[in-house]
Amino acid sequence: MARVAVVTGGTRGIGAAISKGLKDAGYLVAANFGGNEEAAAKFSEETGIKTYKWSVADYEGCENGIKQVEADLGPVDILVNNAGITRDAMFHRMTVQQWNDVIDTNLHGVFNMTHPVYPGMRERKWGRIINISSINGQKGQAGQTNYSASKAGDLGFTKALAQEGARFGVTVNAICPGYIATEMVKAIDEKILNEKIIPQIPVGRLGEPEEIARAVVFLASEDAGFITGSTLSANGGQFFV
Ligand code: NDP
Repeated sequence: MARVAVVTGGTRGIGAAISKGLKDAGYLVAANFGGNEEAAAKFSEETGIKTYKWSVADYEGCENGIKQVEADLGPVDILVNNAGITRDAMFHRMTVQQWNDVIDTNLHGVFNMTHPVYPGMRERKWGRIINISSINGQKGQAGQTNYSASKAGDLGFTKALAQEGARFGVTVNAICPGYIATEMVKAIDEKILNEKIIPQIPVGRLGEPEEIARAVVFLASEDAGFITGSTLSANGGQFFV
């Protein structure tokens, strides 16, 4: 029986590549999304992957969503916490709303999704939790105190839960992408992207979503059973940890 994987924010950008990569590797995939129905419908039509709408920021929504996935596909073996948002502002101008929105999605979302699936993985003595953090959670980024704090929080969560899950066959790892060519990055002014950002990337280009997806597929595999609590940087050589 194929293992079941849930990918949050799995219908667009990096998440869509992860969903496809896991499907191609033979897993049964449920792709969650937050609200962009049009993108989800197009994704589902193109890939044949079943999509599920709920907000990772809502604990009850996550519990119910997981129940539905388990009813449709079976117990969740692999969880990829990929959904994420930015609400950038310099700290002195940042609103409480901007702070809370980012923490609710990027950090509370990881708790909200992991909490309902972890007990089953622990009982079945096998699980993979893969958290998509960010280079900016490692190094901090001006204009992103909210985002950097949420993504650094994801790294602490990863290391702590890895220690709890280790003897139950549940691995917990994080991937820290650098700049990846998705809508999140394409929203940056082209001049800033070409003149300021790309020159800082030693490989001289943005990363592709598939380059993150391939790392996820590896961490989800049997072969990665001894890797837990680790942070994989995938950033074109921009920053080394
Ligand atoms: P996109 O903006 O392209 O896609 C974000 C995805 O997250 C969408 O599918 C969106 O759903 C979903 N989402 C947002 N909020 C929620 C929510 N509350 N509940 C459920 N789903 C939600 O982002 P990327 O693909 O660029 O980023 C994916 C992850 O990678 C994020 O965690 C991001 O922080 C991280 N990352 C990205 C980098 C980059 O350069 N792109 C660099 C480093 C990290 P919907 O389609 O419904 O809107």
